[in-house]
Amino acid sequence: MIAALDEALRQRIALAADWVAHATRIACMTGAGISAESGIATFRGPDGLWEGRRPEEVATPQAFRADPEMVCRFYHARREKLVKCRPNPAHFALVELERRRPEFTLITQNVDNLHRAAGSRHVIELHGNIWVDRCSKCAHQTRLDALPNEPMQRCTACAGLMRPGVVWFGEMLPEGALEAAGEAVEACEVLLVVGTSSLVQPAASLAWHAKRHGARVIEINPDATPLTHSADLVIAEKAGVALPAIIASFAQV
Ligand code: NAD
Ligand code: ZN
Repeated sequence: MIAALDEALRQRIALAADWVAHATRIACMTGAGISAESGIATFRGPDGLWEGRRPEEVATPQAFRADPEMVCRFYHARREKLVKCRPNPAHFALVELERRRPEFTLITQNVDNLHRAAGSRHVIELHGNIWVDRCSKCAHQTRLDALPNEPMQRCTACAGLMRPGVVWFGEMLPEGALEAAGEAVEACEVLLVVGTSSLVQPAASLAWHAKRHGARVIEINPDATPLTHSADLVIAEKAGVALPAIIASFAQV
């Protein structure tokens, strides 16, 4: 695969592989872009996820309180699309990295479950998981293993309305997730930042946090982001090409 890439890109991939090969503590932060090649729309893309709606109309606690049925239908439609999506070579490359470096920490902003579906074990899901339903009234939650028949479900413990286990605008991140992610980026020698626009806080600040603590930051994204100028190495290529190439050449080191 590497032979097919142009020379400058090949060199960048070789350098990334060298850094990864010589590090014991590696972390990776992923965003919607890593799932783009699995057919999942990114956040701000042209046929973006919100389908013409403003995010505040569907992805806030206020929207759920005002019209739970509309919000649940929106998430049901997202689940219907996601159920057909499979992990792509970028997700599998990170599984292989974890196999070689058991201390590897994967931090994702995605809610699509594709890292776990690929086989990654240690995943910090900063924005929750769309295949979890949690009660809007009590602490009860369930992990769904199939698409529910109805968009709206009631809690089996208190009969409250169930809501998707994702983090909405204005909500706190899952307890402990940001702390665990912060510790991983402080401790790592290399941080891979893959497929994120580096705009959504507090996730975006983790890359700068890693840099301040001495990590080498490698950005993988076909487009420039606010992080691009500060990254130690930029690989302007799709995740599904770049990550497998890095892991393949790291495997030869
Ligand atoms: P974003 O949509 O803001 O940015 C996506 C980034 O991925 C862009 O910078 C784009 O250039 C890049 N990209 C596109 N195709 C790529 C590819 N093939 N390889 C590598 N990079 C590629 O995504 P974000 O930064 O993750 O922020 C979006 C927010 O919305 C997050 O909070 C996330 O939770 C949520 N979201 C999740 C999903 C999902 O679970 N799959 C999808 C959309 C949005
Ligand atoms: Zn309940």
